[in-house]
Amino acid sequence: MVKINLKLLKKRAQDEIKRAGDLKLLNEVFKKYLGKKGELTLVLRSLEKLPKAKRVKVGKEANEIKNFLRVQFDQKAAAIKEKAKKEAEEKEWIDITQPGKKPATGHLHPLTQVRRKTEEVFQGLGFTVTEGPEVENEWYNFDALNIPKDHPARDLWDTFYLKGGLLLRTHTTPVDVRYMEKNNPPLRIITIGRCFRHEATDASHESNFYQLDGLMVGKDISVANFKAIIQEFFQRFFGKPVEIRMRPSFFPFTEPSFEVDMTCLVCKGKGCSACQKTGWMEMMGAGMMHPNVFKNSGLSPKNWQGWAFGMGFDRLAMMKYKINDIRLLYSGDLRFLKQF
Ligand SMILES: [Zn+2]
Repeated sequence: MVKINLKLLKKRAQDEIKRAGDLKLLNEVFKKYLGKKGELTLVLRSLEKLPKAKRVKVGKEANEIKNFLRVQFDQKAAAIKEKAKKEAEEKEWIDITQPGKKPATGHLHPLTQVRRKTEEVFQGLGFTVTEGPEVENEWYNFDALNIPKDHPARDLWDTFYLKGGLLLRTHTTPVDVRYMEKNNPPLRIITIGRCFRHEATDASHESNFYQLDGLMVGKDISVANFKAIIQEFFQRFFGKPVEIRMRPSFFPFTEPSFEVDMTCLVCKGKGCSACQKTGWMEMMGAGMMHPNVFKNSGLSPKNWQGWAFGMGFDRLAMMKYKINDIRLLYSGDLRFLKQF
């Protein structure tokens, strides 16, 4: 009876030692069999109650199992400790050949990128980059640009009026007047700035947008200069050969005035849905500066002549990057911005 129990006990103890995953569990198994009240300890203690012949035989076997299990425990404990040590070392191990982690640095907004490119091209053509106030007065925004109070052109723009005759500028052309007041021709300037119009927003209109304005004044500056400069600008900006054409138009501050179209970048002039099959894309309004604007800027129209243009700067960015909704530029959405 005892003999069978001992064999089974040995087998059970062995299995439990194998299964013990850490020192704490192993210790519990040890206590269960070899502790003060352990199963094997109890067997050894009860030996004296057996008849002598049996006592010797069982005692021998029990002691052998005891020694065997002790060895098993020691080996298992050593294995558990070794494993833990290895794991700790793996955690601490550093691969010095691995490339470092790059910190997230972000990048410039597409409008800023396009702005810098535009300034670079115009500076290369001898233009100075200027700026002016976003809060303007009516004189610079309208009157100085030959747009009198009762002129219907004032109705073209829904203006954000402020107190004291101030307003949020509706275009960047007022900067031309401010610059001509302080600088003598010949001059070549561009302005890229924020403008505001109180309009409903849709895919191509925002109440807050950017405009690119250009001005070139000299003794004999003509439409020919305009055509050459603007064509060069578009070619350098888009990095493609393009043609431009001009159509008659009307603006109060230029005479004559024209709309400027550029070869459609999508179809290269063949005609597609982006250009309504015309092969041309509307780019800007322009014209020869009106004599009244020169007068209002303190320059004599008898001595000076020149041209000016204005265009939606957001549109330039949208064409460059093929963005189909102006509102994305102001959304602050990183999923959009990360693409540029
Ligand atoms: Zn096209």
